[in-house]
Amino acid sequence: MTADLHIHSTASDGLMSPAEVVTAANSLHLETIALTDHDSIAGVLAAKKAAEGLDVTLINGVEITACFERREIHLLAYAFNIKDEGLNACLQDHKKARIERAKYIIDRLGKKGLHVTIDEVRAEAISSNICRPHIAAVLVEKGYVATPREAFIRFLSDEALGEMQNFYRNLKDVIAVVKQAGGVAVIAHPGRLYSDMQLNKIISAGIDGIETVHPAHTYVIQQKLEQLALKNDLLTTGGSDFHGRRRTYYRHFGMLGVNGEDVEKINRLASHRK
Ligand code: AMP
Ligand code: MN
Ligand code: MN
Ligand code: MN
Repeated sequence: MTADLHIHSTASDGLMSPAEVVTAANSLHLETIALTDHDSIAGVLAAKKAAEGLDVTLINGVEITACFERREIHLLAYAFNIKDEGLNACLQDHKKARIERAKYIIDRLGKKGLHVTIDEVRAEAISSNICRPHIAAVLVEKGYVATPREAFIRFLSDEALGEMQNFYRNLKDVIAVVKQAGGVAVIAHPGRLYSDMQLNKIISAGIDGIETVHPAHTYVIQQKLEQLALKNDLLTTGGSDFHGRRRTYYRHFGMLGVNGEDVEKINRLASHRK
């Protein structure tokens, strides 16, 4: 394992700045990393700058939210052209979508007697994309819950929120945007989230790879996903989904990932698209 292709920074809901992430990854002797912030590439250039002179290499990355069968789905994109207009337009749309979605969630919380304002959530997110952990942090600050974990279990998890309005572009459109930008599209942490039939639909939508290695995946799930990738001639990727210490999965940073060969395959496919 030498590459961690799933990492968050303060450009979305991570706790460490892009430069801090790079320094930490270098100390852990990771050779390749991808910063994959939610619907944001705002941290990528800063991370690349921080990596200059170090032994760690950055590949362009982002975790894009999309709409699939009226649910939100996460798609990892790698090795795209960072200046691509179509990709940047999509991320701009999603930045706005995240504000509208936060207002919608706040409205629902209000009906349950939990009073939060969009300005409080914006202050928590600072200038980065608004994500649910920012809302969770406000709920903790205001004393509605004791911990972010409790905020998710009771109010913010997919189960607690139930079906929501769709705020994002749909899966097929997002895959097309990523490919047009010369990038590679990978379904993020699919383990347990989708039925076999849904997974097949996601593959048919045109993804290039499956994130097989992820802290939420058991060994059995990982094996099953590897078989599926093999059968459909898809790339396999993985990472720790690190969000900084104190957030979910932080223990896996430096422990979970893929090898240089998997990174090579991503770069090779992307170079054919440019
Ligand atoms: P969003 O992109 O706004 O839907 O927020 C998704 C993020 O919320 C994930 O990337 C995690 O960082 C966090 N998250 C989602 N579900 C949970 C959960 N059950 N417990 C803690 N954090 C969660
Ligand atoms: Mn996150
Ligand atoms: Mn995700
Ligand atoms: Mn993630």
